[in-house]
Amino acid sequence: MSERRYEPGTIEPRWQQIWERERTWEVPNRSGLDAPSIPQPAAERESAYVLEMLPYPSGEPHIGHLKVYSVGDAIAHYERRLGRRVLHPMGYDSFGLPAENHAIKTGEHPRDSTAASIASFQRQFRSWGISIDWSRELATHEPAYYRWTQWIFLQLLRAGLAYRREAAVKWCPNDQTVLANEQVDADGHCERCGALVEVRQLEQWFLSITDYAERLLSDLGSIEWPEHVKTMQRNWIGRSEGAEVTFRCEEIDVDYQVFTTRPDTLFGATFFVMAPEHPDVVRLSAGTEHEQAVREYVNRSLTESNEDRGNLEKPKTGVPLGRTVTNPVNGEQIPMYVADYVLMEYGTGAIMAVPAHDERDHAFAVQYGLPIRRVVEGGDELPYGGDGPLTNSHPDFDGMHNRQALSAIVDWLQREGKGHASVNYRLRDWLVSRQRYWGCPIPVVYCERCGMVPVDEADLPVRLPDVDDYQPKGRSPLAAAEDWVRTKCPQCGAPARRETDTMDTFVDSSWYFLRYCDASNDGAAWDPSVLRDWMPVDQYIGGVEHAILHLMYARFLTKALHDLELLDFEEPFRALFTQGMVTKDGAKMSKSKGNVVSPAAIVERVGADAARCYILFIGPPDQDIDWSDEGLEGVYRFLSRLWRIAADIADIRTPAATDGPENPIDADLELMRKTHWAIEKVSGDLRRFAFNTAIAAVMELVNDCYRLREQADIETLAFAISSAASLLFPFAPHLGSEVYEMLVGERVWEQPWPAGDERYLAREEFELVCQVAGKVRDRVMVPSDADEQALIDACLAAPNVKSHLEGREIVRSIVVPGRLVNVVVR
Ligand SMILES: [Zn+2]
Ligand SMILES: [Zn+2]
Repeated sequence: MSERRYEPGTIEPRWQQIWERERTWEVPNRSGLDAPSIPQPAAERESAYVLEMLPYPSGEPHIGHLKVYSVGDAIAHYERRLGRRVLHPMGYDSFGLPAENHAIKTGEHPRDSTAASIASFQRQFRSWGISIDWSRELATHEPAYYRWTQWIFLQLLRAGLAYRREAAVKWCPNDQTVLANEQVDADGHCERCGALVEVRQLEQWFLSITDYAERLLSDLGSIEWPEHVKTMQRNWIGRSEGAEVTFRCEEIDVDYQVFTTRPDTLFGATFFVMAPEHPDVVRLSAGTEHEQAVREYVNRSLTESNEDRGNLEKPKTGVPLGRTVTNPVNGEQIPMYVADYVLMEYGTGAIMAVPAHDERDHAFAVQYGLPIRRVVEGGDELPYGGDGPLTNSHPDFDGMHNRQALSAIVDWLQREGKGHASVNYRLRDWLVSRQRYWGCPIPVVYCERCGMVPVDEADLPVRLPDVDDYQPKGRSPLAAAEDWVRTKCPQCGAPARRETDTMDTFVDSSWYFLRYCDASNDGAAWDPSVLRDWMPVDQYIGGVEHAILHLMYARFLTKALHDLELLDFEEPFRALFTQGMVTKDGAKMSKSKGNVVSPAAIVERVGADAARCYILFIGPPDQDIDWSDEGLEGVYRFLSRLWRIAADIADIRTPAATDGPENPIDADLELMRKTHWAIEKVSGDLRRFAFNTAIAAVMELVNDCYRLREQADIETLAFAISSAASLLFPFAPHLGSEVYEMLVGERVWEQPWPAGDERYLAREEFELVCQVAGKVRDRVMVPSDADEQALIDACLAAPNVKSHLEGREIVRSIVVPGRLVNVVVR
């Protein structure tokens, strides 16, 4: 027995140095004739793109980073050893609020704190042994990167997909910036800081994601994503079918469009309600006795959360506008209201209210004594949301089933020019301007003569200037950099002012995966032929918290760039895997709870291999897992056992490639079977992300090696243990390399992924009990599909049965299928 100990502190740096020195994980782009001229079908590609979502560099990496990169690295290694050229890059999503808020507090330039954090991430990724192609590293705050973010913005601007308009925007009073809808939680609080969000009217930049709503929805069918993520995207897009109907306000001569999913209930519309954010609300009430009340109501309700406003339980409030609109189906004048239960985000920000058939409208009508007219029969109670024949409508429709009436009424509206069938989406255009410093400058200037003018592409990047004061004041801190703001109009040369808003950081991260493919190209954002070789990403890995933000934006931008003929694919991520959280004592790790597990400390104590194996072993990686130090110790012991038995074998055997003995029997046969079983098991488990059961299979194999080490041949043991190292390599790359080198003398990552040998891959088996005259004499493994005669033959061939049959005459054999054979003798 070897006295030496498994020392990850020695083993791991040695392999990391080899990988770094030899640039083992770098993969060059194919160029010219080598590059594919047309996109390759996924199954035929010899290139694979394995990508984890890029980290946000703030402080040090946390345990969630260790998990996601351990998952991605296992897949990258597996794909490489299947013979593919694997792109596995790394970068940093380095613009954003935390670095800026840190600057506000400490005065440290975000560039410096970001650089320090990136250095810490780089150090730790190396110490974890993640197989990264460092030649493609990027950070979104570097001018060499954001130059192309600005270039993409200009392409969108030229195509009319980026535009400016005044809008009621969500404003975080604490962060002093505009937030996207997605950055406001269900209770109306800022996702970043928790402050209650307010509403303001400001000129803002938008990207036209709603133009892509239908394709974002239908193309979900073409990608291999988890169903729950697709469902979240579908719900966010929120497609509903119905009709757009025109209600006319005769007094001010304006048509208002309303989207309704229930045009069959139009005859039951008894009032009309607008959202407080509707731009016409104040104008409509101007000069009426309600003007003052409307103003007050609007100001009050804008600060409430959408959740509260939409809440069924909440008492309904509202104020009359002092005007009426004409119901287009019956010419009735119905009163107009402003009420906060109507949201600007839905439809057109105005609704027809049908109190007999809608709960909220009903509550409002009861509250304000408005008429309630039933137009669909059925049920006893009002409001009634079900189906039935129409009533109180029009002789043409009364008695008609409402589903049928629905399309009949839409046809009628269309003929009369009062409406048409329509599809509505919950998805809103993407608000991308931010009044913050630490972001990508928007590359446009404002000229007094020419208006808004894009910066010339040749003048990109528009560099972020240094400022002294990061304190937000309701306008971007960039506005204070007067020398920077003052510029010349690219069109006429007259004095002009730069845009001082910066872009939402989600713009930076919605195209970084394209840049990795061609990261050192300084003449273009990418070369299309290079992208053709790598894109789309074959396997994307990240947290489910990005299901609707990042993943929707990246899909949108890819489609937009495709339509501008800059890409020849429409979906960025062919397959997606979402990993679960790592908790401690059942709770999310946080400094305030004091339950943070630091990856650096764990790696220092037990090594990266044990940390990585453990985090993949404690449960299926898509599930949340709870960290346990005892569990970590158990995995560390397993790795020690693997190393020790390898060291013992290496002491008495010269390293050499081996497939085990030629015709093994007994213990050797058992171990050969176990090894090939493990090869099959780990291969299958890797393909379906079942890393926990894959690692468990290697543990079983190592246990069997210990159990059979006295009986088995040294070649068998060498084969079994080197196979264990080879199979464990994707999860524990240092130890896998070390053990494989000790026993085989080769680099494991240069070896093809092992294949199970049919001869040893027993089909399903069971243990057959062999009796002679009712007494158990032996047990043998037999195939589950063996017929009765095969079972009898196996029993008679069992060594201990043979010896008990000597000198006796067999009368007959009784077979209990799936269990035993009893040989009756005389
Ligand atoms: Zn905030
Ligand atoms: Zn000009």
